[in-house]
Amino acid sequence: MMNSLRLVRSAHAGVGDVDVRMMQRAILLARSAALAGEVPIAAVIYRGDEVIAEAANTREREADPTGHAEIVAIREAGRKLGEWRLEGCSMAVTLEPCPMCAGAAVNARLAKLVYGATDPKAGACETLFNIPSDTRLNHRCEMHGGVLSNQCVELLRAFFRERRAEQKRAKEATRAADAAREVRTTASPQVSSAETSSNAKRRSA
Ligand SMILES: [Zn+2]
Repeated sequence: MMNSLRLVRSAHAGVGDVDVRMMQRAILLARSAALAGEVPIAAVIYRGDEVIAEAANTREREADPTGHAEIVAIREAGRKLGEWRLEGCSMAVTLEPCPMCAGAAVNARLAKLVYGATDPKAGACETLFNIPSDTRLNHRCEMHGGVLSNQCVELLRAFFRERRAEQKRAKEATRAADAAREVRTTASPQVSSAETSSNAKRRSA
């Protein structure tokens, strides 16, 4: 463990043991979110060694388009500190924040943002945009990407792999049900003709 911490730290100047530990905590949280059917992304907000708030995605559960882990954690941190400025706080998040969350990090005046996997579809810290470092904004966060990224990427990959397999199973079940229904439908004219002939028999009797 200490070796892996040291390796990560040397690979990311400015990333300390606390940042790596908080990322590990976020990864565990993300993993449990996957079991509840949420995309496994989680965020931990901390000051020094102290965890201020932590959250995983709640988008499915709350049917909330803004239910990204970062937003949920930032709101919770503000409530806990009784202060919208999260000064001196850092956030570790398993996936590169999107424009909404990177914007929230700037608005919360977070001092440091540490993230794991980069997001080619929505990443707003280096991939598509660079919101936390944009000098046109009135605050900038110190930022470090790629921390424990392999674990963060694997978590997402495994989740989507399982979801695709589930969708395939559901499709196959629907197809089987449709086929069974078809068999019943083609069998039914015989039933009705049998009914007709028995009706005819009743009528002639
Ligand atoms: Zn987001």
